[in-house]
Amino acid sequence: MTVAVRVHGLWKRFGEQIAVAGIDLELPAGQFIGLVGPNGAGKTTTLSMVTGLLRPDHGTVEVVGHDVWRDPTEVKARIGVLPEGLRLFERLSGRELLAYTGRLRGLPGQEVDKRATQLLDVLDLAGSQHKLVVDYSTGMRKKIGLAAALLHNPEVLFLDEPFEGVDPISAQTIRGVLERYTASGATVVFSSHVMELVESLCDWVAVMAAGRIRAHGPLADVRGAAPSLQQAFLELVGANGRSTGSDLDWLGGGAR
Ligand code: ATP
Repeated sequence: MTVAVRVHGLWKRFGEQIAVAGIDLELPAGQFIGLVGPNGAGKTTTLSMVTGLLRPDHGTVEVVGHDVWRDPTEVKARIGVLPEGLRLFERLSGRELLAYTGRLRGLPGQEVDKRATQLLDVLDLAGSQHKLVVDYSTGMRKKIGLAAALLHNPEVLFLDEPFEGVDPISAQTIRGVLERYTASGATVVFSSHVMELVESLCDWVAVMAAGRIRAHGPLADVRGAAPSLQQAFLELVGANGRSTGSDLDWLGGGAR
């Protein structure tokens, strides 16, 4: 197995809160990898540390053989990132944003234009390419963010909740683009709590809860004998016996 991302002893604490409690992971290259976990599990913190956006307290991360914190330029040239709560240059149009990103990535102008036109087309943004990003909808922002992350054809693409706030048609489009991209040997790592999506897209998953990795490996291994990934997930994170709201006896029933 060729390893795209190697994480060792990764640890992050915010005051009293341990967000990531010393995780070890080896993510295989050329696969569609899902990082799943409940709210607050530490997925965003992990992805931020892995992509060089947040410095870990301890631990190391290697992406395609380069240490993220010792060799950031090498790593950043090889990865694309769609972070959570993506901050974009709001006063640029979609087309300008891609032109700017392409030049920052050191691509020749003509090549940037060609790739931008194709990406805008495939992601169904061609009609809005001259609109300012500030006026884009949530789904359009995800799509232009994805286009910007793909423009330099990275070896590994990291996406934090790429399908959140995206309509089913756009989700299908994004999916098609990502499937084509991994088919060429590239690696996609994305976080989500939508199990059906992860189950239908991913070859390999890591389940995270309370800052730790609870299970990882090929999808079928993590699912095990459970009927679905959702069920396996509930068992792994220990949510099966949790109250489903029977304590909320005042809720509904007409009494105000
Ligand atoms: P979600 O699915 O809800 O986005 P997540 O798995 O991405 O959750 P994180 O955002 O990584 O989880 O958060 C993990 C824990 O770390 C949470 O308890 C969160 O409150 C805490 N945390 C994250 N970032 C910070 C920060 N900058 N300052 C303080 N606490 C933080």
